Amino acid sequence: MKLNPKFCLTLASAALLSLSACSQAAQVPEKQEQSSKIQQDKSNQGKSQANIKLSGEQANNDSKMVSPMSQKGVHVVADPDSTLVLVNKHFKLPDHYVPRQLVYPNVPFITSQRSEKFKMRKVAADALEKMFAAAKKDGISLAGVSAYRSFALQTVLFNNYARQDGVKKALTYCASPGTSEHETGLAIDVSGTSGMYAATEAFAKTAQAKWLAEHAQNYGFIIRYPKGKEKVTGYEYEAWHIRYVGVQAAKTITKNKLALEEYLRVVPVTK
Ligand SMILES: [Zn+2]
Repeated sequence: MKLNPKFCLTLASAALLSLSACSQAAQVPEKQEQSSKIQQDKSNQGKSQANIKLSGEQANNDSKMVSPMSQKGVHVVADPDSTLVLVNKHFKLPDHYVPRQLVYPNVPFITSQRSEKFKMRKVAADALEKMFAAAKKDGISLAGVSAYRSFALQTVLFNNYARQDGVKKALTYCASPGTSEHETGLAIDVSGTSGMYAATEAFAKTAQAKWLAEHAQNYGFIIRYPKGKEKVTGYEYEAWHIRYVGVQAAKTITKNKLALEEYLRVVPVTK
């Protein structure tokens, strides 16, 4: 069954979870019907992971940041608790990593359901609360869509897609376990309070997106996948995905129009 992408965006939070789970929104909507299978498939998790192979040039990494490679071309980050941790298609979190001090930020979310995916690391949650309050003063109402995602959940999501499309194709639209920035507890997808345009290209044109692009840096957040940096980050432009890196880094990154990879002096992760 193929669902109309527009229709998919109106689906309940389970679908939104799946949508934002695998960040490449443009390619994901037709997969929404899979979200209902996630629970059933938990018993099978791990099967596809053994087949994961990532290709691409090996990153010229900062030796302080990484430990020996766990997969071909994929390094396990040495300091997953750093607010500057780099997680992308070539740098992954240790398996089963759980961020410290995960809390619920006291901000609106697009659904009133309480879910693990609304948690963030405390340092990021505090900054998010301040940022949402500041936005509101400027007449901009923001809401959270999806924040933390556990290694276990990312494994279930990825394996589900890998079973359906094969590992290679799944990797083009879904982060493999350990490589989703949402697993750090420092990233969150945001939208307006209506939830309209959540995790879609159309969000980029909203007042909320414009406000974020200008002001997020003041609260330690960056637009993690900027326009024009697709080859550096390995992701399409995502106006809605913000990442906490701390105020100083966020200001430098924003002012100089850098991707996090460039700020950390890591070579582009895709050709
Ligand atoms: Zn995201």
